[in-house]
Parts: sequence; structure tokens; C-alpha cells
Amino acid sequence: MKQGELLDSPGPGALVRVALNRPMREEYTYFVPPGTEPEPRVGMRVAVSFAGRREVGIVTELPEETDVPASRLKPLSAVLDDEPVLDEQLLKLTRFMASYYACSWGEALAAVLPAVLKREGGRRKVVQLRPAEGVGQDQLAELEDKHEAQFRVLRTLLEASGPLERNDLLRKLNVSLSPVQTLERKGLVVSERVETGLDELLAAPAAPRAKPDQLTPGQEEAVAALNARVQQGGFEAFLLRGVTGSGKTEVYLSVIEEVLAAGRGAIVLVPEIALTPQTVGWFRGRFGQVAVLHSRMTDAQRHDAWRMIRSGEARVVVGARSALFAPMPDLGIVIVDEEHEPSFKQGSTPRYHARDMAVLRARDAEAVCVLGSATPSLESWENARQGRYTLLTMDKRVHGGRLPSVEVVDLRVEKADGPFSGPLELALKGVLERGEQAILFQNRRGFAPVLWCRACRTAVRCAHCDASLVFHKRHQRVVCHSCCEEQRTPTACPSCTAPGLRFLGEGSERVEEAVLARFPAARVARMDSDTMHRREDYEEVLGAFGRGELDVLVGTQMIAKGLDFPRVTLVGIISADGSLHLPDLRAAERTFQLLSQVAGRAGRGELDGRILIQTHTPEHPAIVQAARHDYLTFAAGEMALREELSYPPFGRLARVVLEDEDAARVDEAGNALAAILREHLDPAQAQVLGPAPAPMALLRGRHRSHLLIKAPGRGEGLAPARAILQTFAERTPRPRVTIDVDPVSML
Ligand code: ADP
Ligand code: ZN
Repeated sequence: MKQGELLDSPGPGALVRVALNRPMREEYTYFVPPGTEPEPRVGMRVAVSFAGRREVGIVTELPEETDVPASRLKPLSAVLDDEPVLDEQLLKLTRFMASYYACSWGEALAAVLPAVLKREGGRRKVVQLRPAEGVGQDQLAELEDKHEAQFRVLRTLLEASGPLERNDLLRKLNVSLSPVQTLERKGLVVSERVETGLDELLAAPAAPRAKPDQLTPGQEEAVAALNARVQQGGFEAFLLRGVTGSGKTEVYLSVIEEVLAAGRGAIVLVPEIALTPQTVGWFRGRFGQVAVLHSRMTDAQRHDAWRMIRSGEARVVVGARSALFAPMPDLGIVIVDEEHEPSFKQGSTPRYHARDMAVLRARDAEAVCVLGSATPSLESWENARQGRYTLLTMDKRVHGGRLPSVEVVDLRVEKADGPFSGPLELALKGVLERGEQAILFQNRRGFAPVLWCRACRTAVRCAHCDASLVFHKRHQRVVCHSCCEEQRTPTACPSCTAPGLRFLGEGSERVEEAVLARFPAARVARMDSDTMHRREDYEEVLGAFGRGELDVLVGTQMIAKGLDFPRVTLVGIISADGSLHLPDLRAAERTFQLLSQVAGRAGRGELDGRILIQTHTPEHPAIVQAARHDYLTFAAGEMALREELSYPPFGRLARVVLEDEDAARVDEAGNALAAILREHLDPAQAQVLGPAPAPMALLRGRHRSHLLIKAPGRGEGLAPARAILQTFAERTPRPRVTIDVDPVSML
């Protein structure tokens, strides 16, 4: 049959619409050559040729007819599945994601499907790297100053306690593959392909988190409300606000039991950092077969997990963000723990918020959704206030444990000597004398965040970024934390050549050193991304701390979450000020959440805990209310400010970032886009702010400007903007245009 004949009478099934993982507004139509087997259906993968290449896409529709002229219609190359790989609900959810987050349906689908389903055949393995036998400091020294990227790669591998995953390493050091290949060619580094990388997580043994004999009254009430809804069936979203240590996990476990008893399945999302063998173990301990989904799994691992879930073998899924898309049949509940965490927002296209999509997925599945947090996001808080979510509150700790007392140390009065004010030093001394444990939190890594020239009164800056260089003492180098480039520490100011640069500020490395200088007998470990290269490192340090083999844990936000050590009686926050003054509308909210979370690490056992927060702005509401454990007052005050400015949750934002090496190009495109938007948008519905230089106006040598579109209420006014933005982005190869709907960061 000739192509024309087929098209004269396109019967049902003769045409397919296919979504491809490319940034384009529309799906493409292909015709199905007669005799194609199996017959394509919606949700199946197909191979098509696109721009001269064979690509895999998903069938989204079987249209009756098309506007595409017959001469331009191309045939489907192959149907790759016998069964749809996606059900109706996930198709619907991804379509919504595409329209809401202004990306293509195919891009949204790509976030959902395990990679092995996206490509044809082919199981990728993970590449691990380690230094070659006998390679050490001598070989390393030869690379310094001449081959910077190779130097950093080899140094990191030498420091690590075992092999490192190549992709992680490239990302962490921000280097390309070529220095690694060169090192391999020189015989300094060896690589190995391995099937796994997350063994302990995936095979985490069941850890009996003994089912408590009795729920606390608060848990009782929450579980009763949730179970009632589970039994009744149908969608309802709950916001579970429970102070740290109130036993939220037990509530999740109890309601999941009820869901399973009703013959339905459960998805539990936790922040990536909280997805540990311990967490998985708790769920296995209670439910046996539990599937784990994690962004760093290999395709094969992910595919296996998917099969277990689809077949009904695993009725509980625990995972990070993308686990939301687990193909769970008859889904009964979606739980999002620590729902306020910004890491639930994906940082690349599609920039979806897993918390928001969780509510939608639950609604489509007529399931229950539980968002849990000690410090809910103001978005969820507003939804609860408006009655869209049912609020459940647990404001008492299990065991009637008191919330730890928090003292704010005013650094303007109590001059600190290095990282320690008098009160903090005294408190630490007491803890060490009593043989208890302390956590010291400082959310900056390195030794000194600023290298200051007294002569010209400037900080030494990165040549490629809007950032000051951070001094790392162990390596005797200065590092840009934005682009990861390093150099030897300058002895004179690069701009005015005056000698005698000063090291200002306290990084975690300096805090550790200061503890050891004052308390030489203390057993101290530091947890930040400079010391923790592998997940095993993390578990080893936490294990040692848990067994009492360490006295003090110094760390960045890596230690803020989930740690439950009964002998910790002191938490010192070296400075609360850093995150408070970020140019971001959520700076206060984030600071409040972080302080509350870190404070929750103390006094979790029988011993009372004490928190010291050092700050130069003790009167700031985020600090005052965190010290009082008063979420309600903080939220009320912050909400009033947001409402005045129509900021979320009283309005919605879309942010566009334009980036290019050429500053003029960025300006031009920004102005052009702003003009188009202003022309087409009704200012009562959507306001255009900018373009303006992004807070990080130079990043990795690229100039960056951004533009905000602010729509009041629930953001209906953003709809026309999305279409304009998507078309603009599609037609603008340079500068790079990034659209972020409901951004969680403004940097
Ligand atoms: P949250 O997540 O709210 O901070 P967790 O779920 O981690 O709190 O619970 C805090 C601690 O209390 C855990 O060690 C947990 O095993 C314990 N726990 C929870 N519920 C109960 C209960 N009903 N009786 C006794 N212990 C409990
Ligand atoms: Zn830089």
C-alpha cells in the first residue's frame, strides 16, 4: 500500500500522536504502517524518526485525523511494548505537569519513566573510579597548577575511603569527563563498571522499629482521622504538623497498615538525604516487601523496582522525589514527609514540585495524601487554613519530652572568639565534662568564607562567578563554591597587590579546628561535603556518634535532618545569620525551618537538651520564634508580609532566567521578552518584574538576568504567560532560557 492510500481513509488506529523528550510545544503525529505489530496503544513506547534520528517516544493519543499534510506525515518505525508502560493516571498527571510547568509532555514523561524504558534496550551500569595502585601524593603534586581538573579529581579519589561513582564526582567537582579519561590514560586512575552503587540502601535489612504498645494521644487522634478517611475511601489531603519528636513516622506506619488492609498501596516520599538504610529498614520491619526508588539507582535497579511495584509484589514504596511516579496499582495513600523541604522541587526540566504533584496524584487516584512537617511550608499552611487540607496537629513530644530550651546569643554583646561566644564555649565544656554529646551546626563549608584585603576593602572574588573565594585550610587553597574552581591561596590581593589578606568568617573546617584547639581531648568529627565523599562515610560517622565513640559532631545542613541521638544535650548554631540575609523571599521561612530542625536534634532522650543560637540579629522574628518553638506566631507574621506583596502563598510566581557568556545578548533577550509579556498580559492578572540581574549575576562565566511574573491569588493569570514563555524559549537558542514555575529559590 502506498502512503497516500492509507491517508485517504485513516481509520481508527491509523495515526498516533507521540510525545518525545524534547523541548517542543506539541506532540508529533505519525502514521502506523499496516501490519504493524503489536497494535500501538496509548501509553506504549514507540520508535520514530525525528530530525533524522531514531527516538523513543510515548503514544499519547490515537487521533482520527490530522492537519499535517499527507506528504509530510512519517511512518512509525516500531512499537516497543506489548503493554502500555504508563497508566491513564500517570499520563494525565504528566500532561498536567507539562502544561503547569511549561515544558513538553515528553519532557514530563521522561521524568516519570525509568531510563531503561526511555531508551531502546541497553542497561547502563555505574562507573566507579579509584586511584591506581601505588599512586599517591607525589603523582598528585605533579598535576598541581598544570592540570587543575585532573588534580582535583585525583586528590578527591586519594582522599576518599573507597571507590567513587564517576558521575557523582564529575558533578561534585564540576569537571568534564576528559580529565578523568586523561588520568586513566596516564595510568593514575582506574575505572570499573559495576551493576550497583546503592546496595545497602536497596537491600537494607528490616529494622524492627518496635511497634509502640500505645500511641500517644496526639498520634491516636491523627491516626483515627486518617484511618476513618482510608476506610471511607476517596480523596482527602491532610497536613500533619507535628513538632520534632512527636512521632510522625509512627503515624505514617499505622495508617499504611490500614491502607494495606484495605488492599491498596502506599507511596512514601522523603527528602533524598533522609532516604537511608535506617529509614528503609523501619518500613521493611513493619511491612516486609518494600520497594525503594532513588534518583541514583542504575537503570536496571530502577527497572526491577518498577516491575515489583507493577506486579503488586511490593505494596509500599519509599523513595525520593521521583518515587511519586511509581506505577503503584490501586494507590491508597501518598505520604510526603518533611513536606517543607525545597529538595522536593526538581532543579531541572521538568521543574515540578513533588509535594504539589503528590496531592494531584492522590486526588486522581481517590487516595489519601498526608503532608507531614514540624514546620510546614507556608503554601501548605495556607491550604490548611483555607480548608483545602485537613489539619492534624501533634504539639507534644513522645514520652512527654520537653522541647529543648533555646537561648539566643547576641553576638553584638557577646563577642565571639572565633566561632565561640562565651556561653557556647561554656556549654560545650559542660557537655564534654558530663560525657554527653554535642552537635555544632554551621552551614558553610571550608575554613574562612572570605579572604579580605584591608587595603582595598574588598573580598577576593571568583573570576567566573559572583562569589567570594573560600579558604580551605586542609588543601591550602581557595575555592569558588559556585563553579568549584580552585587555586593556590594568594598571598597578596589580586586587585591592589597589597600583601596580608585576612581570613574572615567561620566555615565548618574552622569550627572543627576551634573545638580541638580548646578541647584537645574531645573526639570530633566533621560532616560536610568536603569530608563525606561516600554514603558509607556518612553512615560510618553517624554510627560512631550513635555508639558514643565521638563527642562532638560539626557539620553543615547535612546534619540538620532526622538524626535521633538520645545523648545529644547541646546543639550550637554557630551563626543563624547566613541564610537569613539571602536575597530570597523565603529566606526567613528557610531560616526558621532550619533552626527548628536543628534544634529538634537535642533532648530526644531522657536528658534535657539545650540549644544555643548565635546571631547578630536576635530580634529577627525567624530567630525569636524558632527559639520559642512557636510556628504559629512565625507563620502569622510571615504570612502578613507575603500577603502585602502578593507573594506565595498569596500569589504565584514564574521565574525566567536568561544566561549567556555575552552580557549584551542576555540584556537584549530579557528586554525583548519583558516587552512581549507586558504587551500581552493584563497587569491586573499578571505583573512582570524585571528583567534585572539575577542575585548570582555571573555564574561559571555566564551572565545571568532574571524576570519574574507574579499573579495574584491562585495564579490563574500565569496561564497566558506560560504559552508566551514556552514559545520564546523554543525560538531562542541563545541565551539559554529557563522557565521555573513556583520557584523555590531565587538565586
Ligand atoms: P518525628 O518524626 O515526629 O520527629 P519520630 O517518628 O522520629 O518523630 O519519633 C520520635 C521517637 O519516638 C522515635 O524514637 C520513635 O521510635 C518513638 N516513638 C514514636 N511513637 C511512640 C509511641 N507511641 N510510644 C513510644 N515511643 C514512640
Ligand atoms: Zn566561580
